[in-house]
Amino acid sequence: AKHKGKSAYAHFAPEMTEVSHERLQMESRMRRALELNEFELNFQPIVDTDSGNLVAAEALLRWNNPSMGMVMPDRFIPLAEETGLIIPIGEWVLQEACRAAVTWKETTGRDIGISVNVSPRQFRDPGFTSTVLNAVSSSGLNHNQLELEITERLILDNSIETAEILRQLDDAGVRLSVDDFGTGYSALSYLKSYPFDTLKIDKSFVQDVMKEAEDASLVRAIINMAHSLGLSVIAEGVEEEAQTHFLKQEGCDYSQGYFYSRPLPTEDFETWLKTTQRL
Ligand code: C2E
Ligand code: CA
Ligand code: CA
Ligand code: CA
Repeated sequence: AKHKGKSAYAHFAPEMTEVSHERLQMESRMRRALELNEFELNFQPIVDTDSGNLVAAEALLRWNNPSMGMVMPDRFIPLAEETGLIIPIGEWVLQEACRAAVTWKETTGRDIGISVNVSPRQFRDPGFTSTVLNAVSSSGLNHNQLELEITERLILDNSIETAEILRQLDDAGVRLSVDDFGTGYSALSYLKSYPFDTLKIDKSFVQDVMKEAEDASLVRAIINMAHSLGLSVIAEGVEEEAQTHFLKQEGCDYSQGYFYSRPLPTEDFETWLKTTQRL
């Protein structure tokens, strides 16, 4: 083996220590975050593209930590996945999201859908299906009001277990969507063998729909393909009015993005719900 220079070692070691220290500190904070009640859900409206009326909300996780401030999911979900902490955290998200939708029904009289993101580690946990079904039944939500958002990457593993879990959830009446559609380099064949209800077109395609003819063609093609397979389509990352005209014209069922609303804390979301028209 090659002899490692002393100076190189001395140069790299402190950096690595710093990184792992930060990681360990975040991990230990994350271990306590559930009992300290530091997690919160924000809700982003999903609207009917034609009317602009609210039909559902996506639950988006936030971690409000006294020393780190508001931590966004991209910063802590990878570590939660690695450590397995995503399993109890994900269970909390499911319970909290179902409960919120039931509360909105009580306070506004409206039955709206609730979408929850599921990460691969959570999905592969043997208790996953019962965790989902428990959250639904203990809150009193209708099964078809819950939609689980699953990324293409997770579906790609193509295992018998994946197919079986999706089938169980579908049989129970829970809705299933493909999140970040178009980013997974995947064969499309899974769409015909798995019981999905919805495709969410990734925001990277939606964002340039007015600037790049290729993106417009892709979005149009995805909408047509989804419809011919009996799936509904949600466009993510809608930020400008011009995009809403395009999406309407192309028959995209639902839309979500900053143009309509940013993700909102529960109370602000309830206000939004009360002041917008019902379908
Ligand atoms: P995602 O599922 O693709 O969620 C959409 C993300 O796009 C959200 O970021 C949302 O705030 C953002 N967004 C919404 N509208 C717009 C827009 O018009 N323009 C742009 N540029 N962005 C928009 P957020 O909340 O930071 O979440 C990031 C990712 O973290 C999510 O991506 C999802 O993969 C993951 N995540 C969030 N909550 C959970 C959770 O409870 N469990 C799991 N496993 N993952 C979660
Ligand atoms: Ca999502
Ligand atoms: Ca289904
Ligand atoms: Ca997405």
